[in-house]
Amino acid sequence: MFALPPLPYADDALSPAISARTLQFHHGKHHAGYLKALNALLDAEGGPTEPLEAVMARAAGDENAKLYNNAAQAWNHSLFWISMSPDGVAPGGELGEAIAASFAGFDGLRAAFVAEGAAHFGSGWLWLAVNPAGGLVVQATHDARGLPGRLNLAPLLICDLWEHAYYLDHQNDRKTFLESWFDTLANWPFAAVQLAAARGEGMAWRHPAPTDRDAGAARALAKSKRQVAA
Ligand code: MN
Repeated sequence: MFALPPLPYADDALSPAISARTLQFHHGKHHAGYLKALNALLDAEGGPTEPLEAVMARAAGDENAKLYNNAAQAWNHSLFWISMSPDGVAPGGELGEAIAASFAGFDGLRAAFVAEGAAHFGSGWLWLAVNPAGGLVVQATHDARGLPGRLNLAPLLICDLWEHAYYLDHQNDRKTFLESWFDTLANWPFAAVQLAAARGEGMAWRHPAPTDRDAGAARALAKSKRQVAA
């Protein structure tokens, strides 16, 4: 099964942009619910044998929308928790240079990010991503839709545009949520690691592997050893 990843900060660490109450429901109910549904669908297939990225890739053709939607929501939320940090470290280095080149500076990126997310119709996700030419782009996607394997963009950061992400704290004011998120929560050190990976230095983030795939591999290894011993 795919386990719910623990939050990398305390429940109240993201306040006031995201309150502890929102975070508890979002992580403990919404994300956990997508993972529960995903695990049930994979159990019906005989259990998870692939990384979540592979599940998303094979389900992306819409023949099995329920599997894609739950897999992508599980993946997107796991990336979302890591896309936030209460540490308030500003972007620098190659990431700062890429922002300056693609958006006419940090203020330009902020304006593009807030405008794209505020104008997005309905539920979805807001991404800061890098294209194959190395340019940074801001892109919203609908509902569960992710970037990996689609649109030829590699994600640096993701922000949740579903109402459950902000309604308890900001009601219908998604724009204020996005401004607060960008100003206080965006995890620029993580985005810098993702950008370096997209440029061939190091590994991009991947979803944690299913826990009982490892157990299954251990059982298979033990069985093969018994067979060799016999
Ligand atoms: Mn969500």
